[in-house]
Amino acid sequence: MTISDNIQNIQRRMKKAAERFDVSLPAAKLIAVSKFQTKDNIQQALDAGHRCFGENRVQEAQEHWLGLRVLYPDLELHLIGALQTNKAADAVALFDMIQSLDREKLAQVLGAEMKKQGRNVPCLIQVNTGEEPQKAGIVPRELGSFLEFCTQECGLSVRGLMCIPPPDDPPALHFALLRDLARHFNLIELSMGMSNDFEKAIPLGATYIRIGTAIFGERS
Ligand SMILES: *Cc1c(COP(=O)(O)O)cnc(C)c1O
Repeated sequence: MTISDNIQNIQRRMKKAAERFDVSLPAAKLIAVSKFQTKDNIQQALDAGHRCFGENRVQEAQEHWLGLRVLYPDLELHLIGALQTNKAADAVALFDMIQSLDREKLAQVLGAEMKKQGRNVPCLIQVNTGEEPQKAGIVPRELGSFLEFCTQECGLSVRGLMCIPPPDDPPALHFALLRDLARHFNLIELSMGMSNDFEKAIPLGATYIRIGTAIFGERS
């Protein structure tokens, strides 16, 4: 199977997962997660016509995409990994969406940096739905006050929520919680579902799924 085959195959499975449940669901967008991938693999995805990618780290994303950005003006780049405040300026300059907004200090720095660059990058709040101590993200009971802080105090455009379920829990419970939280706070975007569980995320209203392994194979 080529990378192009894998992308088509996932898109077919996405469509099926939506149709089986409810044809009126919003179509989810496929983010190809290109962290740890070779330039050649990334080029294969581009040659297959894919334009929407996700990265975990700012520096690796710059290495992958600064040049390609010029060649592919319709690229859409999502930051899906933890962001250090000292990389915020580079992240604001490079990404089209930041999906890992997870703490007040970062919200402040991002807000200031967007003003400085005159660039409004939409954000998703990462929610720690499993309340795992070692995992980044806002716990559900603090989401309301954090959301208000991000929008009112920092001037950020928060469009939705993102989660990574705990590995040992049924993912659908976490996707349903994320959906309910988004509904409660009138947020539109839901980034949930990875290679192993995206077919469960789509019926629960995912608007972005983030797929690495199922497109590119195991990461080196
Ligand atoms: C790596 C990563 C993915 C992709 O995971 P796969 O299981 O390879 O599809 C999705 N989301 C985040 C936040 C990641 O770090």
